[in-house]
Amino acid sequence: MAVLGRGVVPADTPVLRADDVGVLRGDGIFESVHIRAGRPWLFDPHLARMARSAARLGLALPPREALVELAGQALAGWDPGVEGALRLICTRGPEASGTPTVFAVLTPFGSGQLRGRREGVAVLTASLGYPVAARPPAPWLLGGAKTLSYAVNMASLRWAEGHGADDVLWTSTDGYALEAPTATLVWLDRGTLWTVPPEQTGILAGTTARWLLDHAGDLGFAAGETLVRPAELATAQGVWLVSSIRGPAEVRSLDGAVRKPAAETAALCDLLGFAR
Ligand code: PLP
Repeated sequence: MAVLGRGVVPADTPVLRADDVGVLRGDGIFESVHIRAGRPWLFDPHLARMARSAARLGLALPPREALVELAGQALAGWDPGVEGALRLICTRGPEASGTPTVFAVLTPFGSGQLRGRREGVAVLTASLGYPVAARPPAPWLLGGAKTLSYAVNMASLRWAEGHGADDVLWTSTDGYALEAPTATLVWLDRGTLWTVPPEQTGILAGTTARWLLDHAGDLGFAAGETLVRPAELATAQGVWLVSSIRGPAEVRSLDGAVRKPAAETAALCDLLGFAR
């Protein structure tokens, strides 16, 4: 682990004060970056998104160079043969201090994530409680920001697990598919790879989905963004939940309706550079 202003510290070193609003209120931001061959993948888009999240929260994120240096410190002793996740965290800091707490933590890739990548996921739809267009004009709802307040995201996943599924596809109250609690929805329909438009919906702009759609031509596909209702996904050739660490996890069932395995999953995984 590495802490801004302190450098590398052992993983069990306390780095947060008890009055840090990152823990008191979940007031802060983070990024999870895939570590492959000992280096962060898509680091630039992650850092750019972190800066956008900081702007939305009015948070004094340190400059890009400081974050790059911090990540380098955390990665210094990392075995390049091990796939991992780098979390960059910036809280608002101790109450009234005005100084953010910034640190970088590395963890090895988990077996549950590998299972999702290899075997796909059973997904249930669940309402997020907003109409699709609610968040963009309401900046206090922090649409598009990757904040530390992930309790709702984790509760959604526990709810899915409690109902025999692996993951959730959040929907709007007016019936559109949004995103998963830790992944972006991507589907293949008649030669086009689609995803949900972030600007129009307030979902998080996924770095993995963006890269995949920007390179869809390598697989002979077009790419586009559109709103979709979960029922319309039934006729898609393939549906995936795509994210930085797990990579593409194929949706193998949606609300109990089993989907035929998509022939394209391996190609997506290869293109994105994720091992299976
Ligand atoms: N949506 C949410 C809510 C997420 O937490 C994540 C994961 O970080 C994603 C989408 C996928 O984004 P990325 O591909 O940048 O990991």
